[in-house]
Amino acid sequence: MLQYQETPIQEIHDMVLENAGLQLLIKREDLNHPLVSGNKWWKLKYNLMEAAKKNLETLVTYGGAYSNHIFATAAAASELGFKSIGIIRGEEVLPLNPTLAFAREQGMELQFISREAYRAKSEDQLEKFDNFYLIPEGGSNLLAVQGVREFASNLDVSYDYLCCAVGTGGTLCGLIEGVPNEKKIIGFPMLKGAEFLVEEIKKLSERSKHLTNWQLVYDYHFGGYGKSTPWLMEFIQRFKTAHNVPLEFVYTGKLMAGIYDLISSGFFPRGSIILAIHTGGLQVPR
Ligand SMILES: *Cc1c(COP(=O)(O)O)cnc(C)c1O
Repeated sequence: MLQYQETPIQEIHDMVLENAGLQLLIKREDLNHPLVSGNKWWKLKYNLMEAAKKNLETLVTYGGAYSNHIFATAAAASELGFKSIGIIRGEEVLPLNPTLAFAREQGMELQFISREAYRAKSEDQLEKFDNFYLIPEGGSNLLAVQGVREFASNLDVSYDYLCCAVGTGGTLCGLIEGVPNEKKIIGFPMLKGAEFLVEEIKKLSERSKHLTNWQLVYDYHFGGYGKSTPWLMEFIQRFKTAHNVPLEFVYTGKLMAGIYDLISSGFFPRGSIILAIHTGGLQVPR
């Protein structure tokens, strides 16, 4: 099993929250592991156990050149003694960026494939490997959902709204599966045109099909996946200075900016408690 560090719930205090009569809590899951942090720890947990149970020696997965999933999988494989292979979208660019340099340092074998081949993710690509356990791109499968469900069902704090950044939606599925029906769950997709995720979520979470306590808010992608704006970068900087919570611009910065925008638009009724999940993604050893 991967090492795991218990994480705090941090309350945020400022005038915006005070004036709106709201409580904002952050579950600091970014602190759960020095390298396999945040939601990636939970998404990998049961996949790693399954690979070990099947006596498979190698983890194979896919990702972009800055992928938190590649970073986390490489570190998890190294900690647990698996070999790992990362199939990376696009051509190799040297020197490797910090994400891929880290992955290679952890022992991950990097295989670069064209964007077209990547999109196809054909089985042929995998024929040359044997004895491997395949983790899908972004790590979202039923075992990932099982891990996040366990995390969610152990949340031991009173709250009304649960807020989380969304990439593939696997993490959100685990939250929907793991918390009581009366909680309201809000997912903040980081992709532009993310409406398709509703169907993806329904594929991985049975409960999401018949519950109406969850929704996606589409207005906080800031130009799309991996894109940023000067305003967002400044928001992240200010948040760090004011509350000592590090955010990054791909996921958690957009989540927090989105929460504050919803607050200013009067989305949350006075007296509500908002619990935001810090899903990590900082890619720095902590
Ligand atoms: C991967 C990641 C997400 C998205 O998780 P999904 O399960 O793909 O929706 C959110 N936040 C951070 C920091 C991540 O690294």
